[in-house]
Amino acid sequence: MSEDSLFAEAEKQLDKALAIYKVDPETELRLKIPQLSVQVGIPVRMDDGSLQIFKGYRVRYNTLLGPSKGGIRYHHTVTFDEVKSLAFWMTFKCAVVGLPYGGGKGGVTVDPRALSQMELERLSRGYIAQIANFIGPDLDIPAPDVYTNSTIMGWMVDEFSKIKRDWTPGVITGKPISLGGSLGRDDATGRGGFYVFEILREKLGLAQSKIAIQGFGNAGTHFGKLAQSVGHKIVAVSDSKSAIYCEQGIDVASVERFKKETGKLKAVVYKGDVASEVSHQEITHEELLALQVDCLAPAALEKAITGQNAASIKAKVILELANGPVTPEADGILEKKGVVVLPDILANAGGVTVSYFEWVQNKEGYYWELEDVHTKLKAKMEKAALEIYNIHKDSSCSMRTAAYVAALKRLDAASQARGTAALFRRI
Ligand code: GLU
Repeated sequence: MSEDSLFAEAEKQLDKALAIYKVDPETELRLKIPQLSVQVGIPVRMDDGSLQIFKGYRVRYNTLLGPSKGGIRYHHTVTFDEVKSLAFWMTFKCAVVGLPYGGGKGGVTVDPRALSQMELERLSRGYIAQIANFIGPDLDIPAPDVYTNSTIMGWMVDEFSKIKRDWTPGVITGKPISLGGSLGRDDATGRGGFYVFEILREKLGLAQSKIAIQGFGNAGTHFGKLAQSVGHKIVAVSDSKSAIYCEQGIDVASVERFKKETGKLKAVVYKGDVASEVSHQEITHEELLALQVDCLAPAALEKAITGQNAASIKAKVILELANGPVTPEADGILEKKGVVVLPDILANAGGVTVSYFEWVQNKEGYYWELEDVHTKLKAKMEKAALEIYNIHKDSSCSMRTAAYVAALKRLDAASQARGTAALFRRI
């Protein structure tokens, strides 16, 4: 795999849209290269007294539509190429839902499960101290991503505000409620995916559905619970270690609770505090992806579905709750098979949408009720989903290409409004 492979793949998705939707050449130029890339070494005093230096990144990909926005990932596989790709996707994701944001992303190469809570705090504060000059409420606004959460965002906003000697809640979203977080941010990614699925489901020929979820983190569990609550059957779930299949459907909340308590993935139901096992099969990750289901929701990391395994997919619809789970090669295979992919930049945009609501609340100093958050999120997700569905129908292109076209319309308008050679020739 070449150093730049993920980014090169991400660019192919944009190129497909550029082939059917012409933008000003300057817009295209601006979208090809990140505006700012920072690489830092974060010194952390470990609990045993030793010093470790962790590698961290922050990429401000593009700010045509507003300050850059995007999460911070903690994972041992994080690379600059990955962070750049994720920042690229954030640019289009924010544009797809019509947020006044550009795209950015951050990451630290670390296995957070190997750190103590205090080491994790020192790392999080150290990372923010290193990138403090490059972020800000109107400049670049981080948030949670894989293996980061509201506790970590709390340390980060505290550290940033100490450095600036000014309480600045709007610099980071996904914060604890007590530090200016928004109600409804916690389940927003899964909930947004659920709204997209529900509004498009019938158009895609699905009724009550059998669903398999690959990845049992924040997005996967919340999506699963909501889908189950309206009668869909979650027949399989996986985490990084194992996968389970349960014909009659699992109770997502019980499986989540069991995993929290024991670290293991097992089909159980709770009665009070007692968990009883439901008959289920252990399957491999590859078997989960190849299940005969209506919807497969990849909700873990990039490149879960590739040229190697795409042909084995039997799902009718793929709901990309993760970023970049389907490679362009796999996209081509799936398109030929008639599998509809609801792309990441639409399907998982619920998280950043409620991040935007949080930022608005921080600016106003006025906090909304949960119901307001849900109503506004639903409206935004459904509007974006229908807009993209219509482009997909009118232009006979994949939903992914349609999503990029929807984003390009907004990005191109902003680029032209800022001034291009064509504009100045007209004046
Ligand atoms: N990390 C999330 C994403 O990939 C959320 C980003 C945000 O809230 O800014 O969309």
